[in-house]
Amino acid sequence: QAGILRLGHRPKRDKRITTHTALVARAFGASYYFLSEVCDMSVMDNVLSVEKRWGRGFKLVSCGLSYKDYISIWRNYMKGVIVHLTMYGLELEREIDGIKKAGKPVLIIIGSEKVPGEIYKIADFNISVGNQPHSEVAALAIFLDRLYNGQELYYKFEDAKVQIEPSASGKKVISIGGNKDEKEKYNDA
Ligand code: SAM
Repeated sequence: QAGILRLGHRPKRDKRITTHTALVARAFGASYYFLSEVCDMSVMDNVLSVEKRWGRGFKLVSCGLSYKDYISIWRNYMKGVIVHLTMYGLELEREIDGIKKAGKPVLIIIGSEKVPGEIYKIADFNISVGNQPHSEVAALAIFLDRLYNGQELYYKFEDAKVQIEPSASGKKVISIGGNKDEKEKYNDA
């Protein structure tokens, strides 16, 4: 099981990127998403409306507690390990097997602006996805993909109302809610 802890969020600047971290977390197999320090209801609403339409990926989405609270919940209740994604960390390729071998739920911390120094000490693993600065969205997607060996891409989401039918040209979305006989095909906007 994996959870994401997004460290803070600047309501004006970070709306899109925080939403993207949550959507990537969901699409790439994470079950928990925590946004610390602030609650941005427009981000949360967006994520919940995706869940409603495309199916349940998350067991829990939460915002507004301090990062210390989320970390202590993860350690004490989930008995999990803490991975901090940072360009200064050890290489993903070298560390991923050790993280998997721990066999414990993984809380993946991603920053927004300056990351507090103590996060580097609290984390069990400081992991880099390449040693160049890029994006929390990219770092998270690649980390989850390596954690789940690409299997997360084939996960079927529970209670989905719609599902994509892969297509070589155009967009095919199938409605899968309600009576099977009423299944309807339509083009998604
Ligand atoms: N200035 C911030 C700091 O003090 O570390 C980093 C800002 S960066 C745009 C936001 C987040 O993206 C980082 O906290 C980290 O989680 C993630 N990130 C960016 N590049 C990364 C890399 N090469 N490897 C792993 N994570 C990375």
